[in-house]
Amino acid sequence: MAGILFIISAPSGSGKSTLVSQLRSLVEGLDFSVSYTTRSPRGSEEDGREYHFTTREIFEGMMEADEFLEHASVFGNYYGTARSALALAAEHGRDLLLDIDVQGAMQVMGRVPEAVSIFIMPPSPQVLEQRLRNRSAAEHMTDEEVIQRRLAQAASELKYIAEYDYAIVNDVLDVAVAELKAIVLTERDVLDDDLPLLAASCRTSG
Ligand code: ADP
Ligand code: 5GP
Repeated sequence: MAGILFIISAPSGSGKSTLVSQLRSLVEGLDFSVSYTTRSPRGSEEDGREYHFTTREIFEGMMEADEFLEHASVFGNYYGTARSALALAAEHGRDLLLDIDVQGAMQVMGRVPEAVSIFIMPPSPQVLEQRLRNRSAAEHMTDEEVIQRRLAQAASELKYIAEYDYAIVNDVLDVAVAELKAIVLTERDVLDDDLPLLAASCRTSG
């Protein structure tokens, strides 16, 4: 039996990677779809772990061969989810997590209507800016233009929240992780008194 497809989107810097890695250490049976991208590795990222880092030529060849479930151009680079990631998870009956941007999420929602979609928000634009700056400083890659572009992009992505099934505010990390876990377990029909209520508190009206 095919597992559940979870889509997670968030403006860059909201803390999605941090949340997803904590979720995966707490919940079993959740595969992570490793996307293809033409951007360069950042910090300690490794090819095949965070992303399959590839060239524009190879990516465009995969587009032509219809190998992507969805793909998008984000901040001047291509990103895409290979259909094979879905097929592999389905083959093993495992749930699959897609960490993709709003454009990609809209494509997947159209193609896989039963997918469960979750949007992660920063508590405020000021906190988002601070997190982007902290991360850039930690990676010794402070580039004002990049930060400003990501802030502008965040403002336009926030307009799509209502399209998602759930929305989580990543303010206190432990709370956001608990909410994310509650959503995943509730969608799996795990019986526990507190989980459905916590998950329901994150439901959007959309
Ligand atoms: P994203 O994957 O959404 O781009 P990251 O997970 O890289 O974001 O997080 C951006 C920065 O914010 C990182 O420096 C991370 O440690 C920090 N961060 C994430 N979640 C929180 C939180 N709840 N409180 C404070 N800092 C956070
Ligand atoms: P980053 O470069 O910060 O890792 O990611 C930039 C944006 O690209 C994030 O919003 C991330 O969710 C998105 N992204 C990562 N992989 C994919 C993918 O396969 N498809 C799409 N559409 N977006 C992706």
